[in-house]
Amino acid sequence: MRAAAVVAAAGSSTRMGLDKILALVDGRPVLTRSLQVLRAAGMERIVVGVRPGSAESVRSTALVPYGLDQVTLTDGGPTRSATVRSSLAALPPEIDYVLVHDAARPFCTPSLVRRVLEAAERYGAACAALPLVDTVHRAAPSGEIAQTLDRTSLWGAQTPQAFRRELLEAAHARGAEGTDDAGLVAALGVAVRLVEGERTNIKVTYPKDLVPDPGFAVGYGQDVHRLVPGRRLVLGGVTVPHDRGLDGHSDADVLCHAVADAVLGASGLGDIGRHFPPSDPRWAGADSLDLLRRCVEMAAACGWRPTQADCLVTAERPRLAPFSEEMRARLADALGCAPDRVNVKAGTAEGLGALGRQEGIGATAVVLMMRA
Ligand code: MG
Repeated sequence: MRAAAVVAAAGSSTRMGLDKILALVDGRPVLTRSLQVLRAAGMERIVVGVRPGSAESVRSTALVPYGLDQVTLTDGGPTRSATVRSSLAALPPEIDYVLVHDAARPFCTPSLVRRVLEAAERYGAACAALPLVDTVHRAAPSGEIAQTLDRTSLWGAQTPQAFRRELLEAAHARGAEGTDDAGLVAALGVAVRLVEGERTNIKVTYPKDLVPDPGFAVGYGQDVHRLVPGRRLVLGGVTVPHDRGLDGHSDADVLCHAVADAVLGASGLGDIGRHFPPSDPRWAGADSLDLLRRCVEMAAACGWRPTQADCLVTAERPRLAPFSEEMRARLADALGCAPDRVNVKAGTAEGLGALGRQEGIGATAVVLMMRA
């Protein structure tokens, strides 16, 4: 089976008030998500029919940033059927099965794509669909019910739909118009197999259908270092007078490390051990405020900027309260947010455990990041 996907993405989105295929769902364009589903289902050749003149902007916003450069864009037509026809014409001759999908169904799963393809291979034509849950009335022009249809035999069509190529081409040969391809193929007298679709596989039609991108992310960080003689005690970039300091490869600033881990965590970038491994001599004796700044830069490259941090340092001794304002100012400077958005709390372990025995100092931090 040599299958290709045709994606209809040239709709006018009049009910959305914006170009819905480029609207963001959880940070990714609707079209991108739909294409990623097809890719995850193993579809390698994909042709997308877009509004004439929009290919450049679609390519730069929905394809290139997501490694979808191999997807072919072609100018769609004034109707959905015309768009499918122009996309079909762009397929290479060796393709023998065509899967048609709406760009506006970003919540479809790879499993449904595979099940529809399998059914097409077995039966020649297949369509994802679900039994209707609402009762359907046919309305008279007067606005009254003319007829109540028997719901038990009614199914609502979804995409994907898949066909042996010659069936789909025959259905479109005479410029037929329809709201879906399964109907056009069935009109040829061909049996189209219904495959149980998914309730979540909605067609994004209204702004409320989009899962809004919350625009923020929360990161959590935690660190602990051992107290040893002969080292400087550095916390939040501030040198605190004490008879011992924290042991570590860098300056061992647990507070900066916890905050940096929270920044990386919120941005999906792993942890500081991954980016600044103790095995790397470049970070020997490193200023951890500088490491934190580098983490903030990495997060910015992914589109995130810190906006608030809440931190707790657990130390039995020394008393840290006199230094917390300066720690706060230095952390805020490294994070690039206002000092009043950074909070540094100091607590003890009440004499309990290793921290209570003053064997080390620990820190935890929660950082709120906003989409830049
Ligand atoms: Mg550390």
